[in-house]
Amino acid sequence: MTMSAAEKKTKYATYYQANRERIRAQQAGYQRDHREEITERHKLYVENNKLRVAERQSAYYQSHKDESLAYHKKYYMDHKEEIKIKAHEYNEIHKEERRLYVAKYYREHRDQCAARNALYNKTHKEERAKYAKEYRQEQGVEVIKKYRKTNKRRKAAYDAEWHMANREKELARMSEYGRAHPLEASMRAAKRRALKVNAIVSEDKEKIAAIYKRAGSAEKVRCYLCHKLIPLGHRHVDHIRPLTKSGAHSARNLAIACDICNDRKYNKTMVEMGLLV
Ligand SMILES: [Zn+2]
Repeated sequence: MTMSAAEKKTKYATYYQANRERIRAQQAGYQRDHREEITERHKLYVENNKLRVAERQSAYYQSHKDESLAYHKKYYMDHKEEIKIKAHEYNEIHKEERRLYVAKYYREHRDQCAARNALYNKTHKEERAKYAKEYRQEQGVEVIKKYRKTNKRRKAAYDAEWHMANREKELARMSEYGRAHPLEASMRAAKRRALKVNAIVSEDKEKIAAIYKRAGSAEKVRCYLCHKLIPLGHRHVDHIRPLTKSGAHSARNLAIACDICNDRKYNKTMVEMGLLV
């Protein structure tokens, strides 16, 4: 009588149990003696059964997720340095590709990236500060200067945000500075006003400073409008042609006026005041 498949299976299992050590040793011996052949056969099988292998791998991964993760994690921890070096080498070789890929990804996911970066920066303030400090030390000032030059708009946006966030402190600092250096402060304020209305700001800083200095310390100064002597503390450095009427912030367009004339002239040209008629 022939054996059924189930009977065969049971018989083999019993045999295997009784001879386990011997069978294993035999298998190990075969594997050792035919290593190359086995590898080749395995390669060929994988090559010819790509889909099946992938499916089986995926199924295995799905049913052994935790083990898989633990295995990969352990592997990473055990080979950390090696992996880092390899990754670095890979990145070096594929620098340009990577740069393009990252740029493309950023273009396509701009909002997501910005949100993620903002969140990261918010939750990792100390790390960010530490990293920035290290970066400055490593790269030196030149790199930062170059970055600012090529990223003017980004820097301006950052500065604007910074000023908004530190407004109170800034104002306090500015008014303190203003009290200690009134001339300097009003000179800067005038330049800021000029920049704000997109007026032409000339490069003749020294000549401009000289006018402010004269207003602040010269013994005798006459008002350029009424020609009266103006006592200290009542002198205003005026834009002859107002900034808002396309006057430039330049030494040629600056003159010293008294309180009254300055008040009257506010935002009017001399012609509009009737003084030159
Ligand atoms: Zn005057």
